[in-house]
Amino acid sequence: MKERIDILGAGLSGLAAATILAKAGKEVHVHEIRKDSGARFDGDFQGIENWTSETDFFEEMKTWGLEPEEFKSNAFDIIDLIHPDDVITNPVTSGTAFRVVERGTDEHCIDQGFKRMAISAGAKIHYEVKVNPNDCDIVAAGPKDSSAIAFGEIFHTDHPNHVAFQLNDKLAPGAYSYLIIIDGIGLICTCLWRKQKKSGRYLNETIAWYESNYELNRIPIKRVGGKGDFSLPEKYIHENKIYVGEAGGLQDFMWGFGMRYAITSGVLAAQSILDQCDYEVEVRKKLVPLIKTSAINRFLMNRIGDRGFKLVARYWMRDQKKNGDGLNFMKWVYQPGFLRKSLWPLVKLSMLRKKKLKDGRLVYRMPFRKPLKRDLWDPSQKANYIGEQWNEVRKGGASLSFSESDS
Ligand SMILES: Cc1cc2nc3c(=O)[nH]c(=O)nc-3n(C[C@H](O)[C@H](O)[C@H](O)COP(=O)(O)OP(=O)(O)OC[C@H]3O[C@@H](n4cnc5c(N)ncnc54)[C@H](O)[C@@H]3O)c2cc1C
Repeated sequence: MKERIDILGAGLSGLAAATILAKAGKEVHVHEIRKDSGARFDGDFQGIENWTSETDFFEEMKTWGLEPEEFKSNAFDIIDLIHPDDVITNPVTSGTAFRVVERGTDEHCIDQGFKRMAISAGAKIHYEVKVNPNDCDIVAAGPKDSSAIAFGEIFHTDHPNHVAFQLNDKLAPGAYSYLIIIDGIGLICTCLWRKQKKSGRYLNETIAWYESNYELNRIPIKRVGGKGDFSLPEKYIHENKIYVGEAGGLQDFMWGFGMRYAITSGVLAAQSILDQCDYEVEVRKKLVPLIKTSAINRFLMNRIGDRGFKLVARYWMRDQKKNGDGLNFMKWVYQPGFLRKSLWPLVKLSMLRKKKLKDGRLVYRMPFRKPLKRDLWDPSQKANYIGEQWNEVRKGGASLSFSESDS
C-alpha cells in the first residue's frame, strides 16, 4: 500500500479525502492552486441537502470521523416556495431539510472548517502551487467547464433568518432563484441554466422581485457567483488517478447541490486507498444512480417553462398535504423509479454530448444550453435602478468575484 498520497485541490472533496487518509497514518500532501481553501468562493451561502439519503448528512459525516462543528451552519426545516405566478407556499419537514453554510476564506466557512480538520489530522496543504495532475493520486480540482452558472449579490439586511426558493423561468432561465438570510447578511442569487449575455440583468430583475415582496432594507456589499460542470464520465478512476467531487462530474444536474457528493466521494476515495472499499464500485452504487436521476429530472425540467414549474410547485404541496412532510417530495424526486429510468437512453442521447477531455477521460457532459427567444425582455424600472445602484457600489470598491468571462 502506498504511504504518500498526493491530492490535487484543497476544496471540500480533496480535504475530506485528506482528513480520512491522514487520520489513518498516511503522509498526505494537498496541492492547491489558489491562495487558500474557499478562495474559489467569496462568502456566498450554500445549502447542504438532506434529501438524497435517509441518513442526516451531519450524522453521516460523524460516522466518517468528520466534524460538522468545525464550521458554522444553520439548519432549516421550512422554506418559502415561490411559484412562477408569485404565490408563496411553505414546504416544511419535521427534521432538517438542509443546512446553510458559508463558502469562502473566513474562519467560520465550511472550507476553512475542512482545512482545519485536514491539518489537525496531519495533512500538509501547499497553497499557490501548480503541480502535474499525473503526479497525484486523487484529482479534486472542482469544475472545469460550464454547464450552468449562478450569479448573486450579498447585502446587509435587518430581515430575520430566512430561505426562499423561486421557480421562475424568466428571472432564472431554466432554473430557479433563491434568497438566503443568515444573521443580518443576505444573498439573492439567480441560476442560469441557459447561457445568456449580460447575466447581470437577470440578477437585477431577481433582486427587484425580492425587494418588492420582502422587507429587506438591502444594502449591497458585493456580487459573487460561479459555474457548475455536469458530466458523467465512463470511469471514475483513470490512469491510476481517482476523480472526486466536481472534477469527477459528481454534481446534481437538477439543482446543483454538489457539496454532499463532493464530501462523500472524497471519503470514498480515501476508503478505497485504505483498501476498505472499491471506489469505482461504491461511487456507482451510492452516487451515480442519484446523479443519473437528477440528469433525467433536468431533461424534463428543460422541456417545461413556467407552466410546468407551476405544476411542480402544486404537486409538491399536494404531496406534503398527503404525506404530512414537505421533504418527502424532494426525496421522491431523487428516486430512480422505473418510469424515469426508462427515459435514460433518450436523456443520454439528446441532452448529453460525448467529449474527450484533455486528460484523456471520456465523459458525457451537459453543454450550457442556448438562450431561448423568451429570455429577451425589457428590464423593469426597478431593475434598472438596482443595476445603477450596483455600478455606484462597485465604483466605491465593492468586489465582483465572478463574471461571464469566468464561465
Ligand atoms: C454559486 C454556486 C452556488 C452553489 N450552491 C450550492 C448549494 O447551495 N449546495 C450545494 O450542495 N452545492 C452548491 N454548489 C456546488 C458546490 O459548490 C460544488 O459542487 C462543490 O464545492 C464541489 O466540491 P469540489 O471539492 O469538487 O470542488 P471545490 O470545493 O470547488 O474545490 C476544488 C478546489 O480545487 C482547486 N483547483 C482547481 N484547479 C486546480 C489545479 N489545477 N491545481 C490545484 N488546485 C486546483 C480550486 O481552487 C478549489 O479550491 C454551488 C456552486 C456554485 C458555483
